[in-house]
Amino acid sequence: MTQTIQALPTQLLIGGELVSGTGPRLDIFNPATGAVLQQLPEASPEQVDAAVKAAGHAFSGWAQTTPRDRAALLLQLADRIDAGAEQFARLEADNCGKPYAAVLNDEIPAISDTFRFFAGAARTMQGALAGEYLAGHTSFIRRDPIGVVGSIAPWNYPLMMAAWKLAPVLAAGNTAVLKPSEQTPHTTLELATLMAELFPAGVVNIVTGAGPSVGQSLISHPGVRMVSLTGDVATGGRVLEAAVSGIKRTHLELGGKAPVIVFDDADLEAAVEGIKVFGYYNAGQDCTAACRVYAQSGIYEKFVAALSEAVGSIRTGLQDDPATEMGPLITERQRGRVAGFVERARAHKHIEVLTGGKVEEGSGFFYAPTVIAGALQSDEIVQREVFGPVVSVTRFDTAEQAVTWANDSEYGLASSIWTRDVGRAMSVSAALQYGCTWVNTHFMLVNEMPHGGLKRSGYGKDMSLYALEDYTVVRHVMIKH
Ligand code: NAD
Repeated sequence: MTQTIQALPTQLLIGGELVSGTGPRLDIFNPATGAVLQQLPEASPEQVDAAVKAAGHAFSGWAQTTPRDRAALLLQLADRIDAGAEQFARLEADNCGKPYAAVLNDEIPAISDTFRFFAGAARTMQGALAGEYLAGHTSFIRRDPIGVVGSIAPWNYPLMMAAWKLAPVLAAGNTAVLKPSEQTPHTTLELATLMAELFPAGVVNIVTGAGPSVGQSLISHPGVRMVSLTGDVATGGRVLEAAVSGIKRTHLELGGKAPVIVFDDADLEAAVEGIKVFGYYNAGQDCTAACRVYAQSGIYEKFVAALSEAVGSIRTGLQDDPATEMGPLITERQRGRVAGFVERARAHKHIEVLTGGKVEEGSGFFYAPTVIAGALQSDEIVQREVFGPVVSVTRFDTAEQAVTWANDSEYGLASSIWTRDVGRAMSVSAALQYGCTWVNTHFMLVNEMPHGGLKRSGYGKDMSLYALEDYTVVRHVMIKH
């Protein structure tokens, strides 16, 4: 289970060739120990240009392949990912500090399933009927690929984000240039070796490097027809600015601050267990993390006590310790950011830090799982995305108040409601302004259903047939009889 990696992947994929980056070297860390794993040269501006041009040259051939042929390659890729599951999990665990078993058992099967889902979905796209809307003419609709898609991924689930970015793009007949996060390139580079063997040259290109250098060159390249980003709201703004001059399409999946409404009639034990798991999974570095709890007055005290006890029991530790439930944060900087939020919250008299609230001793970028009670709606800890293992709890009285507060957010990605009353679950989920609402659970994703937000969480849909719609364009063809 814990075999050592012989060599870390280093090669970019450009025009079908695996090549070393020729730009400046960046340190890649193991966040669980703080050790530098590798110094990886990023792509140079010339390499980014070559990758986009290769994708441009490959486009017309790839766009004309049949869905069946594209599906066959995506299915082979899924099989190869499953066959290499341990290697992928090893790389991801070491590069992100995630528990190895969680990557192997939770993430890798979901990743290969993404490629399998889009392999099938590409063959079953549906659309409007053809017809005579002008006498003597037949009109019909086509859904065609867009061209070269420049895709930019974050560090929290590197291989999964690569799959979300590549599978629908390729299934729809587009070609791609993907840039993983500069912090977490390893699994995407490993994927590049499979892509190089399976896909025609130029269909998929992978370049690594920092946002302001490689990312910015990619999103501003005139050969890129669409930019897809999963990342921060500020980065989303940069993508939009770059898209203005080239009138590029954009697909944005930005941050989140998920409200979790726990009503008096909820199954308390299930809610506590759910928030313990879904608030702290991946050390809370998840845009859907169950981080902003509203607990109704009747159960507030009991709930807060039970949650703080449950969260206090979460075991942090190294990737390979089977007892580890939570790993470190991705960087020292991210940990400092999280600690800053907690310290500013602690300064308020009405706030109680019930458990955690501290940097963990030793090497690595660990922060203790934290519960903050007594938070008010206007507090920074309730309003801003922390992206760490910190859950705030706010007391509410009525359903109306909970809905108003839940919707009083810049974000609109994910939410959940915990109640035994079906009618309340229906009415509250209808009133919430979030891309997803779970009832009596949180965080559950399936490839058949869309993932994406409203407001400043962005508007691109990942997974599901809606992603195929996002990565295709509707065209009208009219034939005179
Ligand atoms: P980030 O925006 O800093 O980085 C994301 C990617 O954008 C990285 O690859 C980075 O190199 C690149 N980038 C940064 N500046 C760029 C620029 N000027 N031009 C082009 N690319 C640039 O975000 P992050 O810190 O890696 O990830 C955390 C953020 O992502 C959080 O806000 C989180 O909520 C969000 N996120 C959202 C989702 C979702 O599905 N909505 C999923 C995961 C993460």
